[in-house]
Amino acid sequence: MTKQGKTAASFRGGEAGIVFRNGTVLTMDAAKTVLNRGDVLVVGDKIAAIGVNLQVPAGTKEIDAEGGIVMPGMIDTHRHMWQTAMRGYGADWTLTQYFVWYYLQYGKLFRPEDIFAGNRLSALEAIDAGVTTTVDWSHGLQTPEHADAALDALESSPGRFVFAYGNIHAGPWEWASSPDFQNLIKRRNTGSDMLGFQMALDVTGDPEFPERAAFEVARDLGLAVTTHAGVWGATNDDGIRLMFENGCMRPETVYVHAATLSADSYNRIAATGGSVSVSTESEQSCGQGYPPSWILRSHAIPVSLSMDTSVWFSADLFSAMRSTLGADRSHEHLDAHALNETITHSHLRAEHVVDFATMGGARALGLADKVGSLEVGKKADVVLIKNDRSPVMFPLLNPYGHVALQAQRGDVHTVLVNGQIVKYEHQVLGSELAAARSGIEATVEYLQSEMGEAAWREGMNPDVPATKVLDNPYTYTDYRSAATHGN
Ligand SMILES: [Zn+2]
Repeated sequence: MTKQGKTAASFRGGEAGIVFRNGTVLTMDAAKTVLNRGDVLVVGDKIAAIGVNLQVPAGTKEIDAEGGIVMPGMIDTHRHMWQTAMRGYGADWTLTQYFVWYYLQYGKLFRPEDIFAGNRLSALEAIDAGVTTTVDWSHGLQTPEHADAALDALESSPGRFVFAYGNIHAGPWEWASSPDFQNLIKRRNTGSDMLGFQMALDVTGDPEFPERAAFEVARDLGLAVTTHAGVWGATNDDGIRLMFENGCMRPETVYVHAATLSADSYNRIAATGGSVSVSTESEQSCGQGYPPSWILRSHAIPVSLSMDTSVWFSADLFSAMRSTLGADRSHEHLDAHALNETITHSHLRAEHVVDFATMGGARALGLADKVGSLEVGKKADVVLIKNDRSPVMFPLLNPYGHVALQAQRGDVHTVLVNGQIVKYEHQVLGSELAAARSGIEATVEYLQSEMGEAAWREGMNPDVPATKVLDNPYTYTDYRSAATHGN
């Protein structure tokens, strides 16, 4: 596998700079500044100016943002990018089927080239949807070659990434202590803000807390830990308690899902400064627990958003914002109805979920001084939402509401990462898509032949449980037989 630089000629940059003109600018800065008919000037890899009718250097490329929204690139804090090779395969799975398929049956089939193929497609998918930073929660790394392949894909793809190293086929205390892992981090972590590193591991609640060794390695290497916590049937309050008692809960720790925890565990997360990656679509379908934004709010725990895996869902944070608003409000209404009360004002606002998808992610990853908002001096990760052919782009009255509940990935017109244009006029630039397609086709063909046709089909189509149709007291009007007899 050859390594290509990020500056591959296929990605066009602005020579003197790039200016977005006359857009609705959602800065997502601390004051939540919104400009109508605003401009954003990018020079090199940074945001150079934000304002109205900006004077720009000669030769600056102009992008007409009129009728559109200019906002920071979105940030996904938990995504198993390697699983994109199985896109949509598990649409009807629960978490149980997922665990059986990946952990017990077929996860080991994935070769380094399959990890590469999944990561590369996932990276392009993120850019297409306006997601400029993605945490690759990479837990299929059976060998150093798998890890190198995952990293090769990230380094040769457009986008900013955080590589969260994990391996579901060994205990974290085993792989974290291995020279292979530690050498890989030393070899490939160059300190670049285009590619950060985390450790991805789960705490099962074993009273011996064998995971302690992995947390110690994380501390020694200066890496944050990201962990699936509060997952119904898998990780619970015991894991949080063990982490807490052993001093392993830190401000940079990211708790993924955190959907089924006690108040005590939420207090521990809040008190140690950690944040939660809410993966609403996943929690709703798979069964980790009810999407927790409603309870995180009452503990003042910071939230970021994530899409989890394309084996069910796509890398589209518009749908994360939308589903999170819906789930939160749904919970709030139902809670009130149970008390015979009525919610007249919603706690969770469109502005909040746009913040979760931008600054929320930046804060969770320790990147708040670099990305997540449009501010002078920050890295130029910029998204223009604009679609002149869409009836959904006007009127543009409430920009946060427009982003959260109206726009979709097809409306992403232009994407900049680190000042480089990587999507323009609705097209991801470069010839990467064709290469990604052939890689994925080879992986799918290989997996199908290894599994055999019957197992492949069975894996995709779990049994449907019987539905018990309830007795209905209103059957005395037998309209069906009445219709048959023509009365
Ligand atoms: Zn996950």
